[in-house]
Amino acid sequence: MALVDLATATLSANPDDVATVLEPTADDGALAAAAGGNAGPIAISFPTFTDGRGFSLARLLRERHGFKGEIRAIGHLIPDHGQFLLRSGFDTVEIADADTAHVWKFSLERIGRNYQPAVRNGLPLRWDAARKAAAALDETLGKTDDLVARIKEIAHRVEGRIAFSTSLGMEDQAILHAIATSGVIKSGADVDVFTLDTGRLFHEVLETIELSELRFRIRIRLVAPDAAEVEELVARDGVFGFRHSVDNRKACCEVRKVRPLNRALEGAQAWIAGLRREQSDTRAGMPLAAWDDSHGLTKVNPVADWSEEQLMSYISANNIPVNPLHARGFASIGCAPCTRAIQPGEHPRAGRWWWENKDKKECGLHINENGKEKAA
Ligand code: SF4
Repeated sequence: MALVDLATATLSANPDDVATVLEPTADDGALAAAAGGNAGPIAISFPTFTDGRGFSLARLLRERHGFKGEIRAIGHLIPDHGQFLLRSGFDTVEIADADTAHVWKFSLERIGRNYQPAVRNGLPLRWDAARKAAAALDETLGKTDDLVARIKEIAHRVEGRIAFSTSLGMEDQAILHAIATSGVIKSGADVDVFTLDTGRLFHEVLETIELSELRFRIRIRLVAPDAAEVEELVARDGVFGFRHSVDNRKACCEVRKVRPLNRALEGAQAWIAGLRREQSDTRAGMPLAAWDDSHGLTKVNPVADWSEEQLMSYISANNIPVNPLHARGFASIGCAPCTRAIQPGEHPRAGRWWWENKDKKECGLHINENGKEKAA
């Protein structure tokens, strides 16, 4: 008997004895016991080469039970199994004849990229391609600062639904105008314009929606939070529970904004947002377009590199309707109980959750898993 190391496609020297042998009928308790024992190799038996249950067991050991040690495949296996074994979480395979190692090597090395995610395939080919396409879009958008041209380019390059999340702020109104003016929707682009109706919006936001729909003849979809989740939240924290702690506030934003946004983005190929580099230090290096791992789509910020002056002149030149609250000192506008007008010289986001430490003031819509604002 010899052992092939699947990652390097070479014969493994001095293999350790296995600590446990699992039959394909092993249940979850047997997997947990094996994974919880010592870190010695776990062998999974393949009684016939058509029995695929062992692949699932390896994956469960890795993903459900967090086993980090060696998983070895034993039994009736052929070189064509090599890729499946590796991707399912196996480290080694026991082979009867060391002279066939070169056939295993050929089988393991002939496919370099895969389309589907697996235990050992963090970057499937389609994501890799999408990442490159997003980078190419970023480069192309950077060749012009004409917003209408940028919207046309996005519609031209993105196959599938383009989600545009608008808060009816200045940037979003400029983008909405460009979408309407560009004619991309009439030309067949699937642009889904929506806003998160948290149930706590200012009356003026709703008025701006109405005015914008009439002006641009584009329906702005209201995406509501899950009613049961809101009931549970309010029953637990109270009607204004978000004022009592940062955790409460984040829980409210999670239920009323983040989860509805994630639902709205499901299945979309691209997500247009109105973030600008000037808005904060964390947005300073934001690309015009980039692949967004957490949502599995291309995130596009078509006014990322615009200055405030550029934005205001576009709004003014095109007579774009804006939220009347801006004229009353409101800069960044969110939910009514969590937004106030700012004083001259204050940071534009100073009016959001003003009672909190400024380092904790994000709603989570544009935050990644590490708690940092996404670059796109
Ligand atoms: S901004 Fe305020 S009211 Fe709106 S979801 Fe967040 S905490 Fe809740």
